[in-house]
Amino acid sequence: MAFLQRMQEALPSRHEVKRRRWVFVPYDRLNDRTGPLARLKADEAGIILLESERKGRNRPYHKKKVVVVLSNLRHFALEQLARGVAVLYRHGPESYGEQLLRLQREYALPPIQLALPAERELREDLSLAQKDGLRLDYVEDDAWVSTREDWVRVFGEPQRETPRGGGRESGRQYLMERFYRYMRKKTGLLMKNGKFAGGKLSFDEQNRRRYKGEVRVPRRPSFPPDDITREVIDMLSHNGIETIGTFEGFDLPVTAKDCAAYWRFALEQLLPFFGPYEDAMSAEEPMLFHSAISALMNIGRLLPGEVVADVQAAYEDKRVPLASAEGFIRQIIGWREFMRHIHDVTDGFRTLTQNPDPPGNLTANEYSHLLVKERNRAAPDLPAMPSALNAHLPLPPAYWGVRSGMFCLDTAVGQVLEQGWTHHILRLMVLSNLATLCGFSPRELTDWFWVTYVDAYDWVVESNVLGMATFSDGGLTATKPYVSGAAYIHRMSDYCGRCALNPKQATGPGSCPFTALYWRFLERHEKVLGGNQRMLMPYTTLHRKTDQERAALRERAERAVEQLQRGEVVD
Ligand SMILES: Cc1cc2nc3c(=O)[nH]c(=O)nc-3n(C[C@H](O)[C@H](O)[C@H](O)COP(=O)(O)OP(=O)(O)OC[C@H]3O[C@@H](n4cnc5c(N)ncnc54)[C@H](O)[C@@H]3O)c2cc1C
Ligand code: SF4
Repeated sequence: MAFLQRMQEALPSRHEVKRRRWVFVPYDRLNDRTGPLARLKADEAGIILLESERKGRNRPYHKKKVVVVLSNLRHFALEQLARGVAVLYRHGPESYGEQLLRLQREYALPPIQLALPAERELREDLSLAQKDGLRLDYVEDDAWVSTREDWVRVFGEPQRETPRGGGRESGRQYLMERFYRYMRKKTGLLMKNGKFAGGKLSFDEQNRRRYKGEVRVPRRPSFPPDDITREVIDMLSHNGIETIGTFEGFDLPVTAKDCAAYWRFALEQLLPFFGPYEDAMSAEEPMLFHSAISALMNIGRLLPGEVVADVQAAYEDKRVPLASAEGFIRQIIGWREFMRHIHDVTDGFRTLTQNPDPPGNLTANEYSHLLVKERNRAAPDLPAMPSALNAHLPLPPAYWGVRSGMFCLDTAVGQVLEQGWTHHILRLMVLSNLATLCGFSPRELTDWFWVTYVDAYDWVVESNVLGMATFSDGGLTATKPYVSGAAYIHRMSDYCGRCALNPKQATGPGSCPFTALYWRFLERHEKVLGGNQRMLMPYTTLHRKTDQERAALRERAERAVEQLQRGEVVD
């Protein structure tokens, strides 16, 4: 039977509706172990689950992302019904807030409980409906490992009351390491007698091995589409909502049981080797030992607190070595939590100085129309556009699959368009590195990541791209730009051997453009970066180059940017 019809038949009676306490569980909190639902007995709880076409029309998301979200949402509804929880499930054209308001009026519901949403976009959507009369009862979101108080204890109160464009948070700097150090002590993870296990906070320097096939990468379990997933795919194929990528090969877990089984596999089979090969890139083994759990954790199917507790237990049982356990735990209680706070305290990067110059010479208003496909009440404000390096070139066709001849770039783009996922180093040191070096618009790059990745949500994608990867926030998130020439990619991957371009040659035809782009980048941004202590070495090297060498590097770099912009093969 069709899923929505099943939901219609499972509707609670008016009497049941009245008797139960109602909780809104959004698309990204699909569990009964956190939030208000966790505090209710199954037979006194009712949950509201919504599919909003308005959300789908905001951006042309990757097909696999929409499927993983909606199929998990639908399976969650069935799992909760089986537990004895009453479910009001709706699919509608309106925003979440509008649908909630309609339901509240229809059933005369008292204030609906919910955890404070992770996505700013959802908070905005709900607050608009509240102005129209929607009554909500928010509680703190305990799906996170840290709280706002933790952040304030480490960094003090944010300066967020600034109006848009005021730039009050500009010039501040938040160090992830400080936050992570605090979180290790707070959680007691990998601590021994009050000291860091192994005698130090981080084992990052042990985690930089290139992959040469010495350890076989285990085959991941696959979860082919069931009836519900197939129905979602069918709906998305016919509802006229624009998406990108492909449904082909969808095999992500969509039930609570399969999500847990997938995590067990990652913990037992991948985690032991995660650390050493964390930064490696391989054409043969694109996923290497990365867990690829972000899509599941970001919709609440896996909980960060539970995941790190499992890693701690595996470390204690000697199933996962310390360097891998530490590296992984740092990503979650360090980077993941840090990023969501950065997004929160900057009001989604809106309290930073904004770039007056959006890509393609459009006005900011025109650009925001382009980004938000259908102007609507759910996304009424302009996107954040900080750009400390004043980068504004449009993202070139290579990011949409037009062959550039740069093997690393074409490999990363091919993988993401097909799968909706690449691991961290491809995101940072290939896709973002190239964009930063060339001066492509960080806003456009952010929106590209937002639509192409299955794990992208505003709090994590904006903070990673605008913050960590492109230095658009002027150093709020990262002490220096994450940029490099060809040497890094050559050292950490097997890509360059398969590329027509030469990583050891910096100028002239056939040279790898990364190196020339790197020196031209340093030259162009000397005013902003020249005084940065962490950039001292590269600037010293740059200053040793002759005028002739510099001119040749500039020429090579500019030719590559022009070729990319025209959609041509870089040669
Ligand atoms: C330009 C750029 C864009 C990114 N966009 C996203 C995004 O949209 N969604 C997203 O979840 N992550 C994003 N990240 C962070 C990181 O790349 C992914 O979380 C990670 O690659 C997911 O794969 P995994 O689950 O195998 O992670 P693993 O390498 O196995 O790491 C374990 C977990 O740590 C967390 N984590 C690690 N690094 C970060 C980080 N920098 N920020 C937040 N969480 C982190 C993730 O939840 C991840 O699942 C981005 C990073 C960069 C550089
Ligand atoms: S040679 Fe340059 S463009 Fe080619 S794969 Fe290596 S780093 Fe990428």
